[in-house]
Amino acid sequence: MKMTGIVRGIDEVGRIVIPKEYRRMLKVNDKEDALEISMEGDRIVLRKHMPACTFCGSAEGMVEYNGHKICRNCIANLEQIVSQQVEGE
Ligand SMILES: [Zn+2]
Repeated sequence: MKMTGIVRGIDEVGRIVIPKEYRRMLKVNDKEDALEISMEGDRIVLRKHMPACTFCGSAEGMVEYNGHKICRNCIANLEQIVSQQVEGE
């Protein structure tokens, strides 16, 4: 990724505007998504917050069901448990 080095001021309560182009590149939807803020050495790192799976904490392949995020691995595991129970009946 090309580092463009945009300079932005910080207001009196510590807020900074993240360039719209960067928000678009990260697919961050204003007022919907959140960012995770962390430190890596002397850098402040912003990442799009990816809600974790209710069961395993993974953030990949998420599906929402009844307000809960569930990953595809856990869905597959649940399907296997259900199919074993059906076979056992
Ligand atoms: Zn999971």
